[in-house]
Amino acid sequence: MRHCVAALVLTGFRITMAGAATPDLAPIQSGLDYHSFANIEQFRVTHLELDLRVDPFFKTLRGMVGLKIKRLDPNATELILDTRDLNVSDVTIKAQDVLGATAKSETTWVSRPFHFQKKDPILGSALVIELPPSQKTTLFVRIDYETSPTAPALQWVGASQTAGKHTGFFFTQNEPIGARSWIPLQDTPQVRVTYTATIHTSADVLAVMSAKNDPNAKRNGIYTFDMPEAIPSYLIALAVGDFQFKATGPRTGVYAEKSVLKAAAKEFADTESMIETSEKLFGPYRWDRYDILVLPPSYPVGGMENPRLSFITPTVIAGDKSLVSVIAHELAHSWSGNLVSNATWRDLWLNEGFTDYLESRIINAVYGEKREMMERVLGLRALKDNLATLKPADQVLAIDLRDRDPDEVFSDVPYEKGRLFLTYLDAKFGRERFDAFLRSYFDHFAFKSITTEQFVGYLQENLLDRYPGIVTPIQVTAWVSGPGIPQDAVLPTSTEFAPVDQARVDWLGGPAVAVLLEQHARAPEHVADGGLGSNMRLLAHAQCGNRPQLVPAGHPQPIPTQLCSTGAISGNDRTP
Ligand SMILES: [Zn+2]
Repeated sequence: MRHCVAALVLTGFRITMAGAATPDLAPIQSGLDYHSFANIEQFRVTHLELDLRVDPFFKTLRGMVGLKIKRLDPNATELILDTRDLNVSDVTIKAQDVLGATAKSETTWVSRPFHFQKKDPILGSALVIELPPSQKTTLFVRIDYETSPTAPALQWVGASQTAGKHTGFFFTQNEPIGARSWIPLQDTPQVRVTYTATIHTSADVLAVMSAKNDPNAKRNGIYTFDMPEAIPSYLIALAVGDFQFKATGPRTGVYAEKSVLKAAAKEFADTESMIETSEKLFGPYRWDRYDILVLPPSYPVGGMENPRLSFITPTVIAGDKSLVSVIAHELAHSWSGNLVSNATWRDLWLNEGFTDYLESRIINAVYGEKREMMERVLGLRALKDNLATLKPADQVLAIDLRDRDPDEVFSDVPYEKGRLFLTYLDAKFGRERFDAFLRSYFDHFAFKSITTEQFVGYLQENLLDRYPGIVTPIQVTAWVSGPGIPQDAVLPTSTEFAPVDQARVDWLGGPAVAVLLEQHARAPEHVADGGLGSNMRLLAHAQCGNRPQLVPAGHPQPIPTQLCSTGAISGNDRTP
């Protein structure tokens, strides 16, 4: 995921919990998900069947989910699921799963007792379903339910907040633990499920999901989906709106509102070549299609790597592809994150650090080394700024999130420090060895969710031990468990910013700004707000966006194009 800090502040969405973590001196249990109630050692959900009606008037989803469950413990008598503010009306299981039942029909369902445990402010409420002990290894549970209008993962966008301004827009944002607010399930990334879904909407809108989407789907208010690859719950995604589809390649395309469709398709025209590049570097793309859904301007994050269908903010449509690193990032998640996922939120750096590193490699291959270095330098700058605000315990890659909202893991550390760690390994072992390692890593852990400790073990076996004397386990520990940036980090450098800075200084001291100063002094009422500073930014943005009518008449001093790059980068979705 790419966060959009400014939007987070503006919308108040996904605000992290206030208050410091409760000190917990017990050792962290690797692989134990402290953010799920689910008893996954006794039952594992393997497949979901959703049938939901999207009701924008009441801001709810209403319907049912069928869960195909593998029973691991024949004596277990409680199935515990994660929920948040769900109104459950009935829980049933297939008759064949009830002791003494004789019904053979697969459509016979028997109600089971259930109750909610006391609500936790961060984790929601555990739904406890009572079951008889059974030797059968598979059971089917059906839950009829309705979501709450305040479900944190469900975002209801009014028509006025969309690009077209005539039809509302609905979308989900699950990561990290929002899925439980619209589906009762085992909401932990270490449980992977396939799913099918039938989504009911009004007939004038289209529904899409992180699943097989039919670009030619008939717009009739009933949409069916199949997700054949097993994914963690945070990657289940649904969006409904008045959008249309435009192909950008044989297996790529864009869904967007009509008014932005053409610009989006043009902006993201390189997606197919990004996939081809990625496949050469990291192995085959295993998700069939890669489409992009352009969200409304009010979308609170920069991008979300929902498999087969990345959700992207429209603010990256700059007109010059200057912000398509977000696409490279979300596409890279098709390997790091979606194919090999973090087992718990403590292990998020395995998703995001790998993805930032892969993103750099894609940018390098498609747009060249200069651009890669510029973006990495900006990333490093953001990391240093962020580290200055974090306590040492939160500067480590695998941080302790116990008793905390898992949202707190989304600092620059898992992203940028993770990228630096992989860059370090790349430099130490050499590109050829490291690329072979990466490919084997993705193959070995494909469609699995792993812990930091599993990665370190694999690294030890396949790089450190295979090529001894290059990197020690102590150095790896310093990266994974130590604060700050290790001294032997390989830091990016770029000379590209010097002329940009000089051009900015020259321009600010030049005649165009002098005229602005003069105009400002003469007619301050023409400055909307924010004074001269905002007026100057407006001018720069105007010329970069080829809208010279906003430049003061008679003083058309061109702004150097490098300045435009600076302006564009300052609009990056991880920069306020
Ligand atoms: Zn990401």
